[in-house]
Amino acid sequence: MIYLDNAATTKVNAEVLDTFQKVQENFFGNPHSLHTLGIKAESLLEQSRSQILSLLQAEAYRCIFTSGATEANNLAIRGLLKRYAQRGKHIITSMGEHPSVLSTIMSLIDEGYEVTTLGIEKTGTINLDELKAALREDTILVSLMSVNNELGSITPIEEAGQIIKENSGAFYHVDAVQQIGKLPLSLKESTIDMLSFSGHKFHGLKGSGALIVKSKINLVPQITGGDQEEGFRSGTVDVPSAACLAKALRLTTERMTENLPRLENLRERIYSGVSENEGITFNSTKEGSPYIYNFSAKGAQPETLLHGLAEKEIYISTISACSSRSAKESRPVFELTKNRERATTSVRISLSTYTQVSDIEEFLGALKSVLQKIR
Ligand code: PMP
Repeated sequence: MIYLDNAATTKVNAEVLDTFQKVQENFFGNPHSLHTLGIKAESLLEQSRSQILSLLQAEAYRCIFTSGATEANNLAIRGLLKRYAQRGKHIITSMGEHPSVLSTIMSLIDEGYEVTTLGIEKTGTINLDELKAALREDTILVSLMSVNNELGSITPIEEAGQIIKENSGAFYHVDAVQQIGKLPLSLKESTIDMLSFSGHKFHGLKGSGALIVKSKINLVPQITGGDQEEGFRSGTVDVPSAACLAKALRLTTERMTENLPRLENLRERIYSGVSENEGITFNSTKEGSPYIYNFSAKGAQPETLLHGLAEKEIYISTISACSSRSAKESRPVFELTKNRERATTSVRISLSTYTQVSDIEEFLGALKSVLQKIR
């Protein structure tokens, strides 16, 4: 089996699973309970939190455990707007964002918010001049993704942050789902106010994630109850999930450093190997993430290509898993190309730190034969 759909989710790491079992068995106390078992669980929870903050060099931040990036994005956006409502009703985001950001922000228009959506340039990301021009006195929030989940394009997040901070009083949220554990990211002296991520994108558990927030920022909780997570997110804290998130982040960070040069080297092979087939147009660019590639194959229905490869146990995706059952085209590819055919025929392959050269060679061979068969 060759799994090239890692931007949708990854296979859990065996060591992480091992931690899951051990923590479920040995740290099953409620971290809010006052007895020894509770204290033991609380201590592991806080240790996991500190480890995550330390791996991200996020000394000036707090870590709120969530069920994943969708919840973290919702908490960041809705929680911030409610808390700082007097600061303004203008929000800036981009057309490339994941639905957990874009749909959330768009739903706020009904509540009186004004939204500026930045377009996608040829580079697959926003134009910084356009961002600067969009900032206003009443801009309360700018929400941008660091790596696009369909195109792999990289937003210069710190440059964007400098522009935001120099030209406005807006808060800055970054959806870093496709960057964390894949490309280096440090929050030391960062302009980022809030950052979201999901554990299952880097070989952690599904249903795990966090929102990292500058300590001085306050948020109105979106889930209320017993005031766990300093009141930011109520509900009995999932200690095994938190411990596994810390473990997966540590393991992936170590692997990332070791494997990044190897993945960078695979990039050229992927571009040249895929382009050997007729009628291929890449939607991703060589400046993008070495983990995500997106191309359109003229005259080949993406679903037919996907199923043809799946018969050979090679797994890729058409448009992102978050929209592929309902949408017929890739929004980021359409925004980039303004070409409906390319947006409806795009396919994505996404790697992980475990992807080997041999996997890519096998994929390239299979792609050639499936394309010949279906055209
Ligand atoms: N943001 C981006 C960029 C993503 O790729 C995803 C997952 N596809 C999410 C947010 C949402 O993550 P989750 O589904 O784990 O909540």
